[in-house]
Amino acid sequence: MSQNYLYLKNATYIEPFTLEVRQGNILVQPGADGKIQFVQQIPDDAQVLDVQGKIVTRSFVIAHHHIYSALAVGMPAPKKQPTNFYEILKYVWWTLDKSLTKDMVLASALTTAIYAAKAGATFIIDHHASPNFIRGSLSTIAQALDSAGLSHLLCYEITDRDGHDKALQGLEETQEYLKHNQGLVGLHASFTVEEETMKKAADLAEKYNSAVHIHVAEDRFDQDFTLYKWQKRVIERLDYYGFVKNPKTILAHAIHLNDNERMILKFGKAWIAQNPESNLNNNVGFFSYQGLDRSRVMLGTDGMHSDMIQSTKAAYFAGLPVEPQDMAEIYARLRNSHRYLQQNGFKGDGQNNLVVLDYQNRTPVTQQNFLGHFFFGLSSRDVLHVISQGRLIVKDRKMLTIDEQAALQFAREQAQLLWKKMQEL
Ligand SMILES: [Zn+2]
Repeated sequence: MSQNYLYLKNATYIEPFTLEVRQGNILVQPGADGKIQFVQQIPDDAQVLDVQGKIVTRSFVIAHHHIYSALAVGMPAPKKQPTNFYEILKYVWWTLDKSLTKDMVLASALTTAIYAAKAGATFIIDHHASPNFIRGSLSTIAQALDSAGLSHLLCYEITDRDGHDKALQGLEETQEYLKHNQGLVGLHASFTVEEETMKKAADLAEKYNSAVHIHVAEDRFDQDFTLYKWQKRVIERLDYYGFVKNPKTILAHAIHLNDNERMILKFGKAWIAQNPESNLNNNVGFFSYQGLDRSRVMLGTDGMHSDMIQSTKAAYFAGLPVEPQDMAEIYARLRNSHRYLQQNGFKGDGQNNLVVLDYQNRTPVTQQNFLGHFFFGLSSRDVLHVISQGRLIVKDRKMLTIDEQAALQFAREQAQLLWKKMQEL
């Protein structure tokens, strides 16, 4: 019996919420909601990983990702240089996602899984778009992440930006996926979703006891266009459909809000996913928590990368010019994702998801100063082993579950095909 269980010998465990430090041997239960337990004795026939006093803590959740953008790194410049946010979408991301085939999506998911796992993330909340490969796109991603041993909460980005037929296909793909999997109903952003599509998305979310995952007021354009076309501000429009009151809803960005919208959010139940580096990259403004319930803010990467230590540091440093920042508050945003998943009954993010850090600390690490080490010392380079659902998936910085080199080679080939297609579109 005991050989099925993983034991971490001689761990320095840092409790992810209280930062309490505890030394000892840890029994890691397997399974979707497995627990951990400190034990004195390790059975002779057990699977043991001697971590030699290294820091062990909870692995990370990426609260807003775009796996589909994985092959964008290093791609040629777009045919027209974008001059504003709408043009960034049109000439870069909407050209990329329209060119994606099944193999390109698969390569994106496999390589994102590698990058995420090796940076200590074991759970990805993704927002996917591939308008010319909609049907089966979510299960393609799910299978790739499953094969790597990562847990996930996926959605397809439903939108009318390519016509109503594509919106219907997005709704269909979502329905097919939600029949058998935990997931969300993805919507692009208020300004590209017509009333009829919004209504159908709300019905779908209700039917499958799910919620929407949508970009919100990332740029001022979303507010201006929504107000012009539907005579409501973005949060007012989403609230009308009941999205803000749903505790499973994820609103990505939420940058350009007025006081009334902040009030609606404060008294609602939806969660916000902040993506600091993406906001800097697109130069759209920066997230401010004033007037919001900060316990419902999580951190994502928005497809920029899969490194949550980097994203958390960026939220802190880039936020400094905007308003006073508190390390504990920003670190809590990293950990709020666990509460979001747990409170809503999503599977795969139990206590048995762990990272072992090979952190060469030059000063002592304590409960009181761990945040100083997190923001000014640690990096994803220090991630040595990763355990997902009680199973070792990264050991000595190498994936145990999938062939890394084969996946990377496949991705490089797919990237060349993708970039060629994008130039021809
Ligand atoms: Zn996004």
